[in-house]
Amino acid sequence: MNECLRRLQYIPYYGIMIPMKKQKNVTAIECEAEQTTQQKTEVSGTQGQQQSKSDVPMTEQQTERWAKSSEKVQNPKLKQFIQILIFTGFSISAGVIQIVSFGILYDWTKWLPWWPAYLISLVLSVVWNFTFNRKFTFRAANNVPLAMGLVVVYYCMFTPISVFGGDEIAAMLSENLGMLVTFIMMLINFVTEFIWDKFIVFNEKVTGRIEALFHGGKKSVYVVGAGISGLTAARVLAEAGYRVTVTEKRDTVGGNVYDYTDENGIIVQKYGPHIFHTNDKEVYEFLSRFTEWNLYEHRVLGYIGGKYVPVPFNLTSLFELYPKDKAEKLKAILIQEIGLDKKVPILQLKEHPEKIVREFAQFVYENVFYTYTMKQWGFPPEELGATVMNRVPVYISYEDRYFTDEYQFQPKEGYTKLAENLLSHRNIKLVTGKDALESLKIENGGILLDGKKFRGKVIFTGAIDDLFARKYGALSYRSLDFVFETHDTASYQPAAVVNYTTSEKFTRISEFTKFCCPPQEKTVIVKEYSKACGEEDIPYYPIPKQECLADYEKYLLDAQQVKNLYLLGRLACYRYMNMDVAVKSAMELAEQIKNSK
Ligand SMILES: Cc1cc2nc3c(=O)[nH]c(=O)nc-3n(C[C@H](O)[C@H](O)[C@H](O)COP(=O)(O)OP(=O)(O)OC[C@H]3O[C@@H](n4cnc5c(N)ncnc54)[C@H](O)[C@@H]3O)c2cc1C
Repeated sequence: MNECLRRLQYIPYYGIMIPMKKQKNVTAIECEAEQTTQQKTEVSGTQGQQQSKSDVPMTEQQTERWAKSSEKVQNPKLKQFIQILIFTGFSISAGVIQIVSFGILYDWTKWLPWWPAYLISLVLSVVWNFTFNRKFTFRAANNVPLAMGLVVVYYCMFTPISVFGGDEIAAMLSENLGMLVTFIMMLINFVTEFIWDKFIVFNEKVTGRIEALFHGGKKSVYVVGAGISGLTAARVLAEAGYRVTVTEKRDTVGGNVYDYTDENGIIVQKYGPHIFHTNDKEVYEFLSRFTEWNLYEHRVLGYIGGKYVPVPFNLTSLFELYPKDKAEKLKAILIQEIGLDKKVPILQLKEHPEKIVREFAQFVYENVFYTYTMKQWGFPPEELGATVMNRVPVYISYEDRYFTDEYQFQPKEGYTKLAENLLSHRNIKLVTGKDALESLKIENGGILLDGKKFRGKVIFTGAIDDLFARKYGALSYRSLDFVFETHDTASYQPAAVVNYTTSEKFTRISEFTKFCCPPQEKTVIVKEYSKACGEEDIPYYPIPKQECLADYEKYLLDAQQVKNLYLLGRLACYRYMNMDVAVKSAMELAEQIKNSK
């Protein structure tokens, strides 16, 4: 719940996450531009005659970056093979510890009789497996403490049997054959432990039953909503042995990242274009378990004054829209005053002492921000507040990537496939086409499910005002109308996304083939029209105004009174969040639940 409060202040602006109070977390704004060399851009001119950005040869730095990224999407089979090698290596290391210690204590020094030497060597190898080697020994376990406990049970049985049995055998043989007896015991240990692990320790049915025995109903989790937030939490908890039911009111999974493949084989994103980007390695690695990736670096053009120019506004945009001599002069001033490769807030430029810079700032403000904000939010940029506007950058560089995050990819088979893979766990039950609020009720600070008190945890990713029957009124959102068009051409526009910052009623056009696949005979585009959110509309963007946040806080306070209710995701927390943030919050919440009593 605190998570929702802590992050209440974030809003999207042109897809960049902007905190309204803290500047520290603004990755897109804070990241230093990597590119220092000037890039050739051939984007001006009229539509249809544009050279696609993807046709422009890559600079050395781009090539290097892509090579690095390629390493990140390396063949998962190779990765698996390397992991198996590491696992085998560590298992062998435990055996080596046992043999060497036994050799020292018994064979080579004759310090100890067979059984104490064997016992000590066995204990050392087990300790190795339970400490330094633990990460590898128990990596496949959903519930590591339980797995460790079950292995302890195994050794409680195996140790006395092998110590006394081995000692009996050793006594029957000559002293020189002590090592052979140890070898035989190790072999029996290897085979019986393998069987024990396979059928008990790593058998989800068995571990699930044991967990149910200890935790009863408390290990049940009811997740409302099969968006990326709910699915991530569901998966992490399922892997920790929780029984999870996910209820989704749509007939599809993935929430707003849902996509489908159309009759032309093009992956179309039903609820608008989604690009995965993050600097969070943990999030990237978690999702990489459920999808392979395509390399994709997002670039956006703005259609301004009949030309396509990079947005966020950069030096290329400057040269496209200004006469050359004036652009040169401005570039020199900007580099001298602010520095090459820096990002500067538009408001800061607007207050610059040099008139030419102030005029430039006004030009950018009018042509990039004003109309677009009016279309997107229905009010002018000033109402977003100076704090927010202060963080809308102009790039004093040729950096033309929309995001500068380290990890930027698209899932190879789409987001729906990723969502389905997240769901594919025997501890997860999915119900689609059902509004969870038909079964779920909040009563006297407790949760009723189908009329009965629910002892488990509820993770709610739906709209918080719906949960409380809108008793403080409906929260304000912006909604979107998506208009899809299929065209008989390989390329409709010069970039995957073109923002219409000065003209048209729609805010932007996205072209799906440019996100995923090589050019095809046909292409699919979507135009986005922003509008106030009515009763029947899908709520997309919470309105980033203090009065709206104040309404939300009333609901939040009520929710905090309900035991075992956890709010998660963009609707329950009433804030815009990128996918990586949604995944991260869900992972953190799942950990919190795992650690709670
Ligand atoms: C136009 C647009 C473009 C975006 N582009 C990007 C991008 O490029 N990159 C990026 O990182 N992020 C992007 N985002 C943000 C991204 O969509 C969110 O991060 C993500 O959808 C959050 O997932 P969620 O699970 O919190 O919410 P949702 O995806 O909304 O999932 C919530 C689910 O709960 C279900 N639900 C609600 N109430 C109930 C109920 N009572 N019973 C049962 N089910 C219920 C809903 O049907 C829905 O499926 C974009 C968002 C928008 C609007």
